[in-house]
Amino acid sequence: MDLRRCSILSYELWNEAKNLFAGGVNSPVRAAVKPYPFYTRRAKGAYIETEDSKQLIDYVLGYGPLILGHSHPKVLNAVKNQLEKGWLYGTPSVAEIKLAEKITKHVPSAEMVRFVNSGTEATMTAIRLSRGFTGRKKIIKFDGNYHGAHDYVLMDAGSAASEFGVPFSLGIPEEVASTVIVCPYNDISCVERTIRKEDVAGVIVEPVMGNMGVIPPNSNFLKDLRSLTREFNSLLIFDEVITGFRLGLGGAQSYFGVKPDITTLGKIIGGGFPIGAICGSRDVISYLTPSGKVFNAGTFNANPVSMIAGLATIEELEKGNAYRISEKAAKILAEEIDSLIKIEHVVNRVFNFFQFFLGVKKVENAGDARKSLREVYVKVHEALLREGVFVPPSQFEALFTSIAHDDDVINRTIEAFRRVLGEVH
Ligand code: PMP
Repeated sequence: MDLRRCSILSYELWNEAKNLFAGGVNSPVRAAVKPYPFYTRRAKGAYIETEDSKQLIDYVLGYGPLILGHSHPKVLNAVKNQLEKGWLYGTPSVAEIKLAEKITKHVPSAEMVRFVNSGTEATMTAIRLSRGFTGRKKIIKFDGNYHGAHDYVLMDAGSAASEFGVPFSLGIPEEVASTVIVCPYNDISCVERTIRKEDVAGVIVEPVMGNMGVIPPNSNFLKDLRSLTREFNSLLIFDEVITGFRLGLGGAQSYFGVKPDITTLGKIIGGGFPIGAICGSRDVISYLTPSGKVFNAGTFNANPVSMIAGLATIEELEKGNAYRISEKAAKILAEEIDSLIKIEHVVNRVFNFFQFFLGVKKVENAGDARKSLREVYVKVHEALLREGVFVPPSQFEALFTSIAHDDDVINRTIEAFRRVLGEVH
């Protein structure tokens, strides 16, 4: 190992961590950073500073939430003020009403909201809700879509589940797994065949797949899902944990003009603090406890810190600059990367997030993504780290941009990519 080029403090911390945590980390993708994870001391704007005093331009952004960059002053001040007033009440607070009002104003399918603490909790509750509401059992999901770490959705999931070759986690009872049917993404005929013969409670989909790299929906995919689920009285669940408030205030459902029955949110709506939300029409969300009989509860649900941070973030997003700047940054960078790579490749970008795939012509589903030259991607990731740029360690994650990715940041990034991609043949 070439320690001159790496980071000695992080290396020592990593060795300590391996004794304490399974695989050295608390969430698997973090162990994929090469040659070993760096440890972050602080972060501001587009930059992360490591314990080894290295400055890295960040395109991971906490895996999506930080559309305002790190430590945005508006969010920081809002949270500081809230901390002075306490951080957990176990009672309702005004902030939860204000944040829910923002969500119901902007997200077309959202008339009512339930706040939880992670995307995982949101999709778990959404699926239970679809089953409770319809009285049916089966769920359709898509190969490579990742909806969190719970039993209902860990079949052919993307993100770290794909990175570490886990098609299906140990510990999930066969009885649960057999209630979930997996179709290829962008394959409407599979959905049609399945929904005709099975009693499908809900179809859960990432409206843009962000957990196998970035894979956009084909032109009619989401509309066809909408009409099929309507025809067969199944609920359409858009998992907008990544796309919510990233593709604009109305998320993917506004971007593509398709309104689901249930929407799950997370990431951005907490401004970088833990959050999740289940949204939908009044009649569907009312099925949740205590007004209905589909159980959900949580000590930290709607905790005031996450509410305040989310509110400050959305208020900033309403000004529009974050979308303008993050889209411009992603566009310039994606085009530059496209022109720099000399081998066969494709760059998939939707608005302000993207990923590049090497050695393949097109990536329209998880199968295509798996054929890409993943080991070369990882080498690029490692080389970019040495050049001061942090892109996801896994082919199956996305590069995100933020309001902090201004021209100067983009120009520096392009210089780094030029040096690194010049070596990829
Ligand atoms: N859904 C999607 C689309 C996600 O990308 C993720 C996490 N990356 C989740 C759900 C799970 O969210 P969390 O990690 O907050 O549990």
